Amino acid sequence: VPKIAARNVSRIYQTVDGDMVAVDDFSLDVTDGEFVCVVGPSGCGKSTFLRMIAGLDTISAGSIQIAPGGVPGKPLNSVVFQEYAIFPWKTVIDNVAFGLEMRGIARKERLETARYWLDRVGLGKFAGYYPHQISGGMKQRVSIVRALANDPEVLLMDEPLGALDAQTRVVLQEELLRIWEETRKTVVYITHSLDEAVLLGDRVILMTAQPGRHLATFDIDLPRP
Ligand code: ADP
Ligand code: ADP
Repeated sequence: VPKIAARNVSRIYQTVDGDMVAVDDFSLDVTDGEFVCVVGPSGCGKSTFLRMIAGLDTISAGSIQIAPGGVPGKPLNSVVFQEYAIFPWKTVIDNVAFGLEMRGIARKERLETARYWLDRVGLGKFAGYYPHQISGGMKQRVSIVRALANDPEVLLMDEPLGALDAQTRVVLQEELLRIWEETRKTVVYITHSLDEAVLLGDRVILMTAQPGRHLATFDIDLPRP
């Protein structure tokens, strides 16, 4: 049973110029514990596809299913976007604990979990800081560990390192790999960088579709060293 089963998925937007096919008959199975990168040029439908997996966009045709893990209350997915969607009025640790707060986890327990994840990315010292007091790379670390602290069935990432400078990006790529090796979380990772896709992914899905014109999808299996 795949962790994520996307079958013949399409997304058609109604625009003033008529129907706009953003994703055209796209299918993808992701195995539990797999790190799948979806790479392709801007506008080929990557974000739309990810939003549909996350339940944040309507599926016009086809279906997407995420297999639940059987742990009650465990969220099916958590999403990390390019722009750190963290709350400016909350401290770093309260941001990381936010998803747990929404699930009604007691304060002591959620702060312990948040603390654990902050320590894992070297942000323990910044727990009491506010987002405006830390760098862009740190803010994106906060977004990433906030998603992981929820312990979702699948982790969905949309260009999570896209807004960072090249040096910070390399550091975060290494951190992501290390965390993935330790957690074996099922990941779908959107990027327009083939370099990044090949570095991070077990499997790279190359979307060469253009709006309204689904050209081809290549599915590349990579050996992990
Ligand atoms: P639908 O009604 O098909 O579910 P949405 O609710 O997502 O579509 O969006 C409503 C309308 O807003 C769309 O039909 C589209 O014309 C416009 N729209 C929303 N987001 C965008 C975007 N990123 N680019 C272009 N048009 C957009
Ligand atoms: P990518 O993530 O690969 O850059 P997107 O999924 O953001 O691509 O967009 C795919 C196509 O769908 C683009 O042509 C985009 O303009 C269009 N699109 C995205 N959202 C909407 C919307 N809400 N309404 C109309 N068109 C949209």
